Amino acid sequence: MIDQVTVQKIIDAAEITSLIQEFVSLKRRGANYLGLCPFHNEKTPSFTVSPSKGIFKCFGCGKAGNAVSFIMAHEQLSYPEALRYLAKKYNIHIEEKELTVEDIRANTERESMNIVNEAACKYFENTLFNSDEGISIGLSYFKERGFNEQVIKEFRLGYSLEQKNAFTEWALKNGYKKEFLESTGLSFFKENYYFDRFAARVMFPILSIAGQVVGFGARTLSNDKKTAKYLNSPESLVYNKSKVVYGLFHAKNEIIKQNKKCYLVEGYMDVISLFMTGIKNVVSSSGTSLTEDQIRQIHRFADDITILYDGDLAGIKASLRAIDMILEQGLNVRIVLFPEGEDPDSYAKKHGSSKTIEYIEKNETDFISFKANLLFDEAKNDPIKRASLITDIVRSIAIINDNIKQSIYIQECSKILDVDQSVLYAEVLKIRRSKIESIKKQEYRYSQPVKLTPSLPDSFEGIYFESQEKEIIRLLLLYGNNIIDIKDGATETELEISVAQFIINELRSEGLEFKNVINKKIFLFAEELINNDEPIKIELFTHNLDPEISQVSVNLCSSKYELSPIWEKRGSPILKEEKRLQEILEDVFIKYKLKIAKEFETNVKNKIKLLTESKNDEELQSTLEDFKKIKGILKDLSNMQGRVIL
Ligand code: ZN
Repeated sequence: MIDQVTVQKIIDAAEITSLIQEFVSLKRRGANYLGLCPFHNEKTPSFTVSPSKGIFKCFGCGKAGNAVSFIMAHEQLSYPEALRYLAKKYNIHIEEKELTVEDIRANTERESMNIVNEAACKYFENTLFNSDEGISIGLSYFKERGFNEQVIKEFRLGYSLEQKNAFTEWALKNGYKKEFLESTGLSFFKENYYFDRFAARVMFPILSIAGQVVGFGARTLSNDKKTAKYLNSPESLVYNKSKVVYGLFHAKNEIIKQNKKCYLVEGYMDVISLFMTGIKNVVSSSGTSLTEDQIRQIHRFADDITILYDGDLAGIKASLRAIDMILEQGLNVRIVLFPEGEDPDSYAKKHGSSKTIEYIEKNETDFISFKANLLFDEAKNDPIKRASLITDIVRSIAIINDNIKQSIYIQECSKILDVDQSVLYAEVLKIRRSKIESIKKQEYRYSQPVKLTPSLPDSFEGIYFESQEKEIIRLLLLYGNNIIDIKDGATETELEISVAQFIINELRSEGLEFKNVINKKIFLFAEELINNDEPIKIELFTHNLDPEISQVSVNLCSSKYELSPIWEKRGSPILKEEKRLQEILEDVFIKYKLKIAKEFETNVKNKIKLLTESKNDEELQSTLEDFKKIKGILKDLSNMQGRVIL
């Protein structure tokens, strides 16, 4: 358990912009910062960070929160894990309360797996440098490959002993649980024995963007053809192969420094070799062929990717596939092929650092020249092949969403292939049009059922109800201190009252309570502030120690909703809702009460039915009275609603 004082310290220390900047490349936009959302797939940035409010919000997928919730969502951590993560980062000592049995149980599986992976990484590092076998086999292998000690330590390389269960034995002896050794894939357990997954291999830990060890790649040093050259950790709760980009943790800052340019290579060795030559903005998809998710991860820091692959057939094929995927995600792509049979690692080892850099600079080509060079010789005298080459390149150009970029590429292509620009434009348009048609068809399909249901079905009632509660809370938090004029029905006089006071009166005088527990918590906290004559300060809610309160508050107070949805729907002239608070509040409460009254009406109707059946005349009489009353209330509310809508 972390005590509340420490929690507050952590929350105060976490500066949201610099924190998020470690994961997302942000640009200043007025008072806010803007970047590509790390939580959904997007090409134009809609992820906003507000340093003054200390919150983030994505207008694409709706994800929002404060510094703690960002780390929770991004690193897939629980609330206490996220707090510990931030405490470590900002050097805040955590005063741990005595751990109870529940606390220990609350240490989630994920956290335990992270702990085991980190311990394993340290163990393998230690074995590499401090055991005879590690030094004579592992370390000498790395040194042979030209790695110096600094880079070995930086990438946390390690060694796993030949003895088949050395690691597992060590781990069990040191109290690491079988369960997590198994779920991380580090060990196998059979009925009477256990063994290591990675025995007799050099180890490449795979780090998350935040630097946490999530898995391992391991290379065998044996020449036995039956042994797989590389083994990887299996997919697990903490390791998602298709999402992790090897080297991104080390490369991210350099990518930003190098004008958002990133080199993409194939293996672990390539990354480390280039890193040593001084090219530090380098990553690899390692373990899988490049995925869309990986490109998205890279795109968070980079706008330009240069592919550095082996010049053999497999390398060329992989490059062609990568080109279209990268273009589709809105990045620029260039290609460097190394001489056949060479990869960046072997080239760097043979020719040294400056020659390698020179080679890359000289041979970097855009994707059109790359494709053209690849196929042109073959296609030069064959009109059919030539036509299909042109179509192929045009297809890639059509993927690009940016019109300016697209026309530049068309010019380039026209020059290289000696085809009229207008012909190329026509082709691109044709491809794009057919794409748009197919998207439209899909959208049409999705929109069908919605159009067929003009009124909300019963099952949506609860959600509808919830939306009234949320709207009231939103107004309470954003405008709680604003003063409005209301007419007091009894005395016919104008009263000045704060929005918060108005909301509290409306709810309390009718004996109404929010159904949603978190909404209720927020309301009670606001009420307490008002009763103590304290203003409603939004930070008290968005940075509340209760993560549920802070999350809901952030969601409700993000600026997209500065205009009430009510006004947007009605198509009224767009006025700041601050100027129409009175009307908005009235409208919300009428809707809210209507909803409650209707629910009440349904209950009373059911009761009448039951009482009639059971012939309980006395109670039936009083229930019929209730029914009359509620009908009257419903009528009044409907009339009021009509008035407000005018
Ligand atoms: Zn998003």
